[in-house]
Amino acid sequence: MKEVDAIIIGTGQGGMPLAGALAGEGQEVVVFERSRVGGSCLNYGCTPSKTFLAAAHAAGRARAAADLGVRVTVDVDFPAIMRRVRKTRDSWSEGAIKRIIDAPATLIMAEGSFTADGGVQGGGEELSAPLVVINTGTSPFVPPVPGLGGTPYLTDRNFWDITELPSTTLVLGGGYIGLELGQGLARLGSKVHIIDMQERVMSIESPDVSQVIHEALERDGVSFHLGVKAGSVEHSNGTFKLALEGGDTLQGDALFVATGRKPNTAALNAEEAGIELDRRGFIEVDDEFETSHTGVYAIGDVIGQPAFTHVSWEDYRRLYGILHGEDRKKDDRVLGYAMYTEPQLGRAGLSLEQALEQGFDAQEARMDIKDMSRAIEWGQDLGFFQMVIDKDTGLILGATLVGYEAGELVHVFLDLIEAGATWELLESAQHINPTYAEYLPSVARMFKD
Ligand SMILES: Cc1cc2nc3c(=O)[nH]c(=O)nc-3n(C[C@H](O)[C@H](O)[C@H](O)COP(=O)(O)OP(=O)(O)OC[C@H]3O[C@@H](n4cnc5c(N)ncnc54)[C@H](O)[C@@H]3O)c2cc1C
Repeated sequence: MKEVDAIIIGTGQGGMPLAGALAGEGQEVVVFERSRVGGSCLNYGCTPSKTFLAAAHAAGRARAAADLGVRVTVDVDFPAIMRRVRKTRDSWSEGAIKRIIDAPATLIMAEGSFTADGGVQGGGEELSAPLVVINTGTSPFVPPVPGLGGTPYLTDRNFWDITELPSTTLVLGGGYIGLELGQGLARLGSKVHIIDMQERVMSIESPDVSQVIHEALERDGVSFHLGVKAGSVEHSNGTFKLALEGGDTLQGDALFVATGRKPNTAALNAEEAGIELDRRGFIEVDDEFETSHTGVYAIGDVIGQPAFTHVSWEDYRRLYGILHGEDRKKDDRVLGYAMYTEPQLGRAGLSLEQALEQGFDAQEARMDIKDMSRAIEWGQDLGFFQMVIDKDTGLILGATLVGYEAGELVHVFLDLIEAGATWELLESAQHINPTYAEYLPSVARMFKD
C-alpha cells in the first residue's frame, strides 16, 4: 500500500480547493473522482441551472415588459439554450481538472472506497494517508413510486442533456430545485405541473414565502397539485401518465424528479473502516469535521448539513484552518441561501419560526414590495422583506427577502448578523434612493413602533 500525505474522495466544492491548498504546500495529494470532475455544483447543480435560468428569466422579463408598454415577441431557441448550458458546464469542469493537475495533485478517475484499516482503494490503486477527506456529496433521491423505475424520467443528472423543450413537463417536488426548473421551463414555453405531497411549495420556509412563490409561478402558467402523493407512473409512446393518489392522472412528455437528496456513502465502505453514518446514511462528524475514525474527515453535503456550494467551500476553509492549528469550528457561522426563481428568495440566519423554536423572544417586522417606490416604478409587485430580531437584546437574528435579486440584497443581513448588529444600527443607516435596499432601514424602523 502506497503512503501519501493526503487523500481526498470526491471533487466537490470543498475537496477541490482543499486539494489545491494542501498540494500548494508541497504535500503529496491524491484525489479520487468517480464521475465528472467538479461535483454537483459545476456539472448538475448551480452552474447549469443558473445558466439555464438566465435564458428563462430573459424570456419571462421580455414578456413582462408589455406591462411597461414595451411589446416583445419571444422566440425561444431551446437547443441553443441547452448548448450554452452544456458549454458553460463543460468549460468549468475542464477548468476543475486543470486546477487539480496544476496544483499539482494526482487525479484518479475512479470510485474511492475504504479498506478495513482506513486506507483507500480505487482504480487499481491502494493508498494510505494520515489525512483522508470525504467530500462525496449527494445524489437525487428517487422515491419508490410504482412504475417509475425503468422509465426515462429526468433528474438533475440528465436534464442538461435534453435538446427539445418538453411540451408538458410534470415536476415531482416543490422544493427549490423543482421550483427553479419548473418556472424556467414554463417561461421557455412548456406547460408545467408541479406535484408535491406537502400542502404548500417550499414547505421548509414560512407560509408567506410559499404563498408568494406559488402566485409568481402561477402567473407563469404553472399548475400546482399539492398535498397529493404520486401513486404510480406509466410511460408509453413518449408519454408519461402520472396517477395521483386520490384519483387524478396527469400526462406529460417529460417527468422531472426533484424529491430530495441522498448521501453518496453507499460505495465508500465507510462502516467497515469504523466511520459512523447516521440513520439516513450521512457521515457523522464532530465540531471539527472529524469522523469516528481518527484522521478521516468529511465536509460538504455528505455530512447532512444545509446542502449548498458556499457551505461546502467554507467547510474547506475551516478544515484547512483546523488542520493548521487554528481554533475554528464547523457551525459558528450564519447560514444564508438563495432561490433563483423570479422573484428570488434570499434567506439569512433564522426565520421567525426557527427563532421561536430555538427559544428566542423573537419579533418580526415586514414590509411588502408593492409599497416600495422602486418596485412601483419598475412594475414589480410580488414579494416582501421580513427581518427577525431578539426582543431582549435587539440583535438581528435573521431575514427573509422575497423580491427582485433578493439573493444579492440578503448579504446585508448576513454581514450584520455575523457582526452581531442590532436593528438600531440598521435603522440609523442612510441607504440610497430609489433602491430596494433603501427599504431595509425602513423595515428596521418598524421595531421603533
Ligand atoms: C439542480 C441543483 C441546483 C443547485 N443550485 C445551487 C445553488 O444555486 N447554490 C448552491 O449553493 N448550491 C446549489 N446546489 C447544491 C450544490 O450543488 C451542492 O451543495 C454543492 O455541489 C456542494 O456539494 P459537495 O461539495 O458536498 O459535493 P458534490 O459537489 O456533490 O461533489 C461530490 C463529488 O464526489 C464524487 N463521488 C461520490 N462518491 C464518490 C466515491 N466513492 N469516489 C469518488 N468520487 C465520489 C461525485 O461524483 C461528485 O463529483 C444545487 C444542486 C442541484 C442538484
